[in-house]
Amino acid sequence: MTWHATQSAAREREQLQALAGVPLTRMDHHDPELLDELLEAVRAVARTGAFILGAEVERFEEDFAAYCGTSRAVGVSSGIDALLLALRALGIGAGDEVVVPANSFIATAEAVTLAGARPVFADVDPVTQLVTPSTVAPVISERTAALIPVHLYGRTVDMDPLLELARARGLVVVEDACQAHGARYRGRRVGTLGAAGCFSFYPAKNLGAWGDGGALVTGDEGLAERVALMRSHGERPRYHHQVVGTTARLDAVQAAVLRCKLRQLDGWNDARRRLGAALAGALVGSSVRPPAEPAAEGDHVYHQFVVTSDARDGLRRHLESRGVATGIHYPVPIHRSPPYEGAGEARADLPVAESLADRVCSLPMFPAMTASELDQVVAAVISFVPSPEPVEVASQS
Ligand SMILES: *Cc1c(COP(=O)(O)O)cnc(C)c1O
Repeated sequence: MTWHATQSAAREREQLQALAGVPLTRMDHHDPELLDELLEAVRAVARTGAFILGAEVERFEEDFAAYCGTSRAVGVSSGIDALLLALRALGIGAGDEVVVPANSFIATAEAVTLAGARPVFADVDPVTQLVTPSTVAPVISERTAALIPVHLYGRTVDMDPLLELARARGLVVVEDACQAHGARYRGRRVGTLGAAGCFSFYPAKNLGAWGDGGALVTGDEGLAERVALMRSHGERPRYHHQVVGTTARLDAVQAAVLRCKLRQLDGWNDARRRLGAALAGALVGSSVRPPAEPAAEGDHVYHQFVVTSDARDGLRRHLESRGVATGIHYPVPIHRSPPYEGAGEARADLPVAESLADRVCSLPMFPAMTASELDQVVAAVISFVPSPEPVEVASQS
C-alpha cells in the first residue's frame, strides 16, 4: 500500500471506530500489521509440527526471564496453574493457610484451594485497593504458610514492608502479577520480588496470548526445575516419572505469539501509563473518583482503569447510552462468593473490599485508544449527574 492509502485506511478505521463507540479493550486483530506478524509466527510453528514444549517455548522462557530481570521463567498453561504449581513446588498444601486479598480475580484463591491449603482473606487499603501489612497482619495465624499479594489492575503492591512482615513471620511470598506484566517496583520488575512471580497470558492481559497461557518466574533454580517437572507429569526423561505432575504446559503456538508481543510490551505499557494519567487528570472534579496516582517507589501499568462512584450502576447506564463500554472488576468480593462464603474462610468484616465491590467501575483502557476515544470517555463521564436514589412515594388513594 502507498503511504496515502495507508493513511486513509487508518483514518477510515478511526471514523468507523468512533461510530462504534469505545470498547473496554481492543484485541490484536484490530491491528493489521501486528496480526500479519503473529500469523507468520504461528505459520512457522505449524510448519515444524512441534506444538508441545520444544525450542519455541524455551526461547520465550529465556526472553521472558531476561525481560523480568531474573534467571528463570517456566511457561505453563494459565495464570492459575502458575500459582498452583508455585504453591505445590514450595510444599504448601493440606493444613496450611495462605493469605490472599478479598478483592482479586477468584483464581488467586482457587489456586490455594486446589493446592489443598486454605485461603484466608485480607482486606485492602481504601486508596490503593491493595494489601498492606496492616490489612494482612490481623489474619496471620500459626498455620499461615504463605502470602499472595496481587498487583491488582496493574498497580504495584508496596512490597518492601510486606516482605519484611513475611520474613518476620516465616511466610513465603508468591506474587500474583497476572495483571501487571512489566510494572516496576523500586526499579525491579514485579514477579521477581518474592519467591516466585505468577503471570497469566489470557488474551486480554497486558501481555496476552491467542488462547490461555501463563508463566512462573523465579531466581530459585530448584523451584523452577520442580515446576518444570510438574507441568508435564513429572516426566524426565521420556516416560520416566519423578513426581506427580499434570498437563499444564505453555504450548509452542502461544509461545511464538508471546515472543513477538513481548517486544512491544514496554511500548504498550507506556501508552497505558500516558492514557491512565490523562484520564485520571481529566476526571478530577467529576462525580467519580479516579485511581490514585502511583506511589514514587511503585508503578501502574493500567491493566484496568478503575474509578469509584457511589452511583456506579447509574454511571454505567449513562456511559452505555453514550457508547462507552464499562466493566466491573469485581462485583462480588471473593469471600462473599458461593464457593467461599460460609465455608469458614470468610470473615464477616472486610469492609473496604465489600464497599469497593459496590462502587468500582472499569472504563475503556487499551494501548491503541485514540485521542478522540479518550475525549469521548471523558465527556461521557463528566456529563453524568448522579441522581439521588429514588424514594418510594406512598400512593395517595
Ligand atoms: C487473570 C488472573 C489470574 C488467572 O489467570 P488465568 O490465566 O485466567 O488462569 C489470576 N489472578 C489474577 C489477579 C488475574 O487477573
